[in-house]
Amino acid sequence: MTKIPHILLIYTGGTIGMVKDYKTGALHTFNFDKLLKHIPEINHLNCKIQSISLKEPIDSSNMNPEKWVLIAEIIEDNYNAFDGFVILHGSDTMSYTSSAISFMFENLSKPIIFTGSQLPIGDLRTDAKENLITSIEIASAQDNGKPIITEVCLYFEYKLYRANRTTKINAEQFEAFTSPNFPPLGESGVYLKFSKQLIQKPLKNSYLKVRKKLDNNIVILKIFPGITKAVVKSILEIKGLKGVVMETFGSGNAPTEKWFVELLKEAIDKNIYIINVTQCAGGNVQMGQYETSIELKNLGIISGKDITTESALAKLMYLLGEKIPKNKFKSVFETQIRGEITED
Ligand code: ASP
Repeated sequence: MTKIPHILLIYTGGTIGMVKDYKTGALHTFNFDKLLKHIPEINHLNCKIQSISLKEPIDSSNMNPEKWVLIAEIIEDNYNAFDGFVILHGSDTMSYTSSAISFMFENLSKPIIFTGSQLPIGDLRTDAKENLITSIEIASAQDNGKPIITEVCLYFEYKLYRANRTTKINAEQFEAFTSPNFPPLGESGVYLKFSKQLIQKPLKNSYLKVRKKLDNNIVILKIFPGITKAVVKSILEIKGLKGVVMETFGSGNAPTEKWFVELLKEAIDKNIYIINVTQCAGGNVQMGQYETSIELKNLGIISGKDITTESALAKLMYLLGEKIPKNKFKSVFETQIRGEITED
């Protein structure tokens, strides 16, 4: 461990580093070195900062599993040389990417902090400076020479969250994220305060494993009143489909119509895993609580419990990539592996 924390800033794109194209009026990404020139303050932080940028920074709407692997590889290649990592990322899909990175890094013992902003760094009223500076401070925070944060987090507008518990809730307010089912791990005010008892710790005598096999033969199926047989059938019959994140009503309820239940059964018989997550902003799936979810339970549908859709999607890609055997898949999915669900 170095005395002064050594932090790697990884720039992937997003509003934080965008400028306005005055011809079209649209925001687009620009050179990262220019971005750093807008924040001379970072030279006064008590850490050594190096930065690296994706070859082509992107709006996070263009993020995908291949680019998640690229980000993971940058962290992996630099893991021993740095004490912490700050990833600058567009806010639109930050919860997806950061959830995926959390599953990809097993036995993490250093901080990986995702952040971004709602306004570009050059804007007078920007939220980018606070988000970036505080994220670097969080990644540098140590107790007795050891990092305080040993998990993948998302920092935005004074709150530090466990990344795989977050969801983007607002497209224009500075408070763009929330963590509906898990309290923040830290807050920034006059002081930086951490809820240390909540922070995930690596297992003793464990070493870092980076899991890079992700299988994206999956779909999100959002149930709505009036959903037709043709729609459900065409989704569940997609060639090569291996998993479905099914967003149901309330505590995991869905229509009880015969055709619907039969289509789900046919999919399960074809070894497609179906995960039940709630489309509510917060709360838990409890299959069997209502008549409208008993059938789902009997079919062997997997309970996402209080997982977010973003995290369920990332966990499904990860577990499919790891080729978890069929007889174990349900219990592995229903068990927390990176603090992403609350177990009963
Ligand atoms: N469209 C942008 C992105 O996600 C929005 C942002 O950065 O906040 O890349």
